[in-house]
Amino acid sequence: VASVVLFTSDLRLYDHPPLRAALAAGDEVVPLFVRDRAVEAAGFAAPNRAAFLADCLADLDTALRERGGRLVVRSGDLVTQVCAVAAQADAGEVHMAAAHSAFATRREDRLGRALEAAGRRLVVHDAVTVAVPPGEVTPATSDHFAVFTPYYRHWARARLRAVLSAPRRVRVPDRATGERPPVRGAVTGVSPALPRGGESEGRKRLTAYWRAGLADYADTHDDLAADATSRLSAHLHFGTLSPVELVHRARRHGGPGAEALVRQLAWRDFHRQVLAARPDAAHADYRGKGDHWRTERTARDDIEAWRQGRTGYPVIDAAMRQLRHEGWMHNRARLLTAGFLTKTLYVDWRIGAAHFLYWLVDGDIANNQLNWQWMAGTGTDTRPNRVLNPVLQARRYDPEGAYVRRWVPELGGVAGPAVHEPWKLPGGVRAALDYPDPVVGLAEGLDRFRRARGR
Ligand code: FAD
Repeated sequence: VASVVLFTSDLRLYDHPPLRAALAAGDEVVPLFVRDRAVEAAGFAAPNRAAFLADCLADLDTALRERGGRLVVRSGDLVTQVCAVAAQADAGEVHMAAAHSAFATRREDRLGRALEAAGRRLVVHDAVTVAVPPGEVTPATSDHFAVFTPYYRHWARARLRAVLSAPRRVRVPDRATGERPPVRGAVTGVSPALPRGGESEGRKRLTAYWRAGLADYADTHDDLAADATSRLSAHLHFGTLSPVELVHRARRHGGPGAEALVRQLAWRDFHRQVLAARPDAAHADYRGKGDHWRTERTARDDIEAWRQGRTGYPVIDAAMRQLRHEGWMHNRARLLTAGFLTKTLYVDWRIGAAHFLYWLVDGDIANNQLNWQWMAGTGTDTRPNRVLNPVLQARRYDPEGAYVRRWVPELGGVAGPAVHEPWKLPGGVRAALDYPDPVVGLAEGLDRFRRARGR
């Protein structure tokens, strides 16, 4: 008997419950990935993620070949393609990871019905792309937690499944046909310094970080210049690493660094359980504030300055340029740039979220949209009107200004923390810099925000 394993956001062989179950169900397995035309049509397959994805597929194919198998790649409508492959292989079961977004859940439902009509079964596995599945921990009176702290208390007590090893052999029936999987590096993104994708890269990064970074994570994760976070986010997004495995390993490691990292991984699950319960939060305000945001029409120049990293606030500009260059941005910088766009420029969070989704290699509907809503004060932040001052934050998280000088070469000659406030430099020095004046004064921005929020 044959089964199909449909890979989606879980492009790995280690700790993969659907693959394990398919192998247990029969002697042959078709490892399948479908390039879903609907994902491409929705614009979600942005170039930086397409490049990372190609590496992931190449790496998965290599790993399967080392085990006697191969990856079957198809393109088109996902449901049609999975049904065709299942028919071709005469498979009784299709195994896949549970979906959490509105789009993926609808697709999963459609697939289940189509397979059933053909006399086959869709088996959906939890805890593949998250550590604790949405709905597993809930408050007494709702289907999801709206506040992180109580969520985290429950999340931390949830039982995690055991970690699974990678299979030694995978036999793929000859009759299963598809396109040739991409080769590594076949697709280039739009950022010059993109990380490489694939499970083997993810495992290398994991081992290196556990050895050299994890112990200090609690102290260094907010330090912009130190760049000392794990950079595992794209691997978690594409599922080349398993969140269940990461939590187990961090707990085994122990210590304040590992504890702090586990807490960040819980944030990931937190946003997923919000999105699973409130799928519309991907686009609509989670808590309607009735904000009359400025838009492309009313704030075009401010938005463009923000996108290009030319706002005149050095830490904001550094971060926005890092995003373009690497397809990644430090979490503290994401907080500052999102806060600046929504609360200082008072621009609709959806405009910023879309820009991030275009560039980020880890661009993820749950994490991106809900973190944006958190910063805009329309989401789950319990202090929705808090405003992060980019100068004070820069002095605190980039005390020597090294992060700014790394990304804003026009300010490369300004020593120390003075780099955070170029408008205070002596007239001649300031005039010699090819660097813009602030797009808006902080007091003026704050005033506009407060008036708009009626405070
Ligand atoms: P680490 O600090 O090493 O954290 C480890 C892992 O924990 C991360 O890889 C990530 O999976 C998870 N994590 C950390 N912080 C958060 C958080 N606040 N919310 C959810 N999960 C978290 N993360 C994405 O993966 N995709 C996005 O599209 C995304 N967009 C964001 C947009 C904004 C406005 C903000 C404020 C944050 C966003 N984040 C997003 C969360 C966070 O900034 C990134 O996960 C983190 O910077 C990735 O770097 P890292 O892997 O080195 O993180």
